[in-house]
Amino acid sequence: MSSDKPRILSGMRATNPRGLHLGNYEGALRNWVHLQDDFKVYCMVADYHALTTMGDLPPNLGFITREVAKDYVSAGLDPQRTSIFVQSRVPEHAELHLVLSMVTGLGKLERVPTYKEKKDELSSGHPVSYGLLGYPVLQAADILLYKPYGVPVGKDQAPHLELSREIGRSFNAAFDCQVFPEFKDIIDGDELRSKVPGLDVDDQGQLRKMSKSYDNCIYLSDTADQVAAKIQSAFTTPTKIKKTDPGIPEGCAVCQYLKLYSPDWKTQWSEDQQGLRGCVQNKRELTECLNEFLGPFREKRAQLDDASIEEILKRGTEEAREFASQTMREVRKAIKID
Ligand code: AMP
Repeated sequence: MSSDKPRILSGMRATNPRGLHLGNYEGALRNWVHLQDDFKVYCMVADYHALTTMGDLPPNLGFITREVAKDYVSAGLDPQRTSIFVQSRVPEHAELHLVLSMVTGLGKLERVPTYKEKKDELSSGHPVSYGLLGYPVLQAADILLYKPYGVPVGKDQAPHLELSREIGRSFNAAFDCQVFPEFKDIIDGDELRSKVPGLDVDDQGQLRKMSKSYDNCIYLSDTADQVAAKIQSAFTTPTKIKKTDPGIPEGCAVCQYLKLYSPDWKTQWSEDQQGLRGCVQNKRELTECLNEFLGPFREKRAQLDDASIEEILKRGTEEAREFASQTMREVRKAIKID
């Protein structure tokens, strides 16, 4: 599938058998769906990346990969326009990772903030792997293979992207070539969407990010009943016991989701603050809005069995490989092993 549109590269790790949650959608996927109109999108399921933080138990990566791909398509990525592919099935990712690791300083990798965080999380007897340290080099390979105009990412990924650019420049300088052009960050600026809160709060009673590791997620594949039950137990203003008590929508998970999914959120927030409505009504109305929003996702997902998603992945992987193998030919020529 050749296209004259500028390319962008995007992707998520295949870490969760439940697939993607509302945070993944609002913080990244929603933007990718819109970008399809103006860009040729290469969208990866990053299965190799999942191995860097998986711990001891090998997950069923094939299963998780298909679940993530089903979420991509059900949320609106169009396989006719977008190449949806699997990282490990395009071997050029691993090959370029190896080559780029030769031009990447160790110090740079050790200074990446997310490496330090992940290393500290693992400190309870789990050895730090070379793969974890080299994660940004694999990410640089993922990006640079497609010579993209830009990369849409969540704000948390910005330091990695800068490092990817530096690695591309280092390669060009080391081999006196221009194989890798510069690319831009495409960051969606919406504050709430870039940090969607989960259903619960932290030790200090503050809303925290929706994340698989906190088990506080609403998944794109949740049924209407699962969504209703989760909203039922979602955190609300703790001092609002009776309907007439004033609410604090900024600190209430249900009100935050109303802001995202209800066209009437301003009225709902104002009534909540004034004690004119209770949490039960908020939850009921949110359940309706969110289930209405997720309805089309569920309909599309119901049409996607394993065979049809594999077909989509096969075609997308072939398209991605076509481009990636051309870049690798240029890389081999630059390092004079062609
Ligand atoms: P992860 O699988 O955690 O690496 O997340 C994949 C993408 O989803 C990244 O671009 C994150 O920035 C985004 N993301 C994850 N959780 C949230 C959240 N709670 N709110 C907004 N974006 C999120």
